[in-house]
Amino acid sequence: MSSQEQGQLDQKPPAAPQVQQLATRLQHHPYAPPAGFAAVQPGVHHASTVLFPNVAAMRARDWRSKAGYTYGLHGTPTTFTLEERIATLDGGLHCILCPSGLSAIALIDLALLQQGDTVLLPENVYGPSRELTEKFLGAWGIGHALYDPLCSAADLAALITPRTRLLWLEAPGSVTMEMPDLRGLVAAARAHGVTTAIDATWAAGIALRPFDLGIDVVMQALTKYQSGGADVLMGSVTTRDAALHERLLLAHMRLGLGVGGDDAARVLRGLHTLELRYHAHDRAARRIATWLQSQPEVAQVLHPALPGSPGHAVWKAECSAAAGLFSVVFDPRYTPEQVDGFVDALRLFKIGYSWGGPVSLAVPYDVSAMRPRGRWPHPGALVRLAIGLEDADDLIADLQQALATLG
Ligand SMILES: *Cc1c(COP(=O)(O)O)cnc(C)c1O
Repeated sequence: MSSQEQGQLDQKPPAAPQVQQLATRLQHHPYAPPAGFAAVQPGVHHASTVLFPNVAAMRARDWRSKAGYTYGLHGTPTTFTLEERIATLDGGLHCILCPSGLSAIALIDLALLQQGDTVLLPENVYGPSRELTEKFLGAWGIGHALYDPLCSAADLAALITPRTRLLWLEAPGSVTMEMPDLRGLVAAARAHGVTTAIDATWAAGIALRPFDLGIDVVMQALTKYQSGGADVLMGSVTTRDAALHERLLLAHMRLGLGVGGDDAARVLRGLHTLELRYHAHDRAARRIATWLQSQPEVAQVLHPALPGSPGHAVWKAECSAAAGLFSVVFDPRYTPEQVDGFVDALRLFKIGYSWGGPVSLAVPYDVSAMRPRGRWPHPGALVRLAIGLEDADDLIADLQQALATLG
């Protein structure tokens, strides 16, 4: 059967137009464009309602199957295409899209945890994930324990109880930039039958192969590098395991976390240049981080690819690249207010949350909310820099003039 014939089968035959009033003809037009249109981009499909040719077809179709369509929330050609491409990028088999990175985190928590269960989070976890766990999951009787992201496998194993169901990993933490011992922590979790999930937004499917480390669920904020434009919110949840995928998919349906076609199309467009952009961000960030390390105002640059940064050995062993994200700890002779002044003095670096977009960003962070005193050795104020796609020398000049204002 040609695809045109298939297309005709998917629709009810049109009613005779000459007997209808304008209001009806405006809703029901007999023209159907020929099938077989081909272009570089897969096309943007918009739908809440999906049409069926007859009742039997409607009843026969399974919303879980990508062999057909049932309702916009469960997928369109555009969202299915993006899911397949993200699954390939992550090295997984099944991908589910969510309206934001945070909703992808929430989906994993709600699909895999029940009342009485406990989840383990690194202390430096993405802040809203901790908020969700402490304030929401806690109210529903789901417990949690925080672990030192730099702890050993034995330290982590000591926190695991018969109630522990899920271990969250983040590599590296996106403010403190500490890289955990992924292999060791995953082995400890697996030895106790604990499911592992990683927030792999930093690696973006490029710098790290989480499934090769034995991690069960890979989550990404596509908002960052995949979109690349600082103008889309989206998250993904990828697995290799069919049973795990089914649990996640049921929770996704029950929570109504589908995404729209326009947003999916934007991410599909960004994917074409993802690898080029990622390496460009990486090159510029390492250059700028290395330069900053030699500035007298700076106590330490936290960038996993720089020797001396926490978890650098893990980065070297497991990662093939690095994102354009790092943090700068200032000499403690500067007050947090002075360091705020440094951020205000930057011109090319803008002030704003998120990262992975074309424009460089700077945000001061209070690490005391993430890392208890005894486990954070830096007394100085911290600023996180997200390096965009500007020229690295121009960014260094901008940093230089802002450092000069510190006096
Ligand atoms: C941005 C981010 C998220 C959340 O993504 P949103 O799309 O903004 O909800 C999750 N984890 C990390 C590490 C992030 O940087």
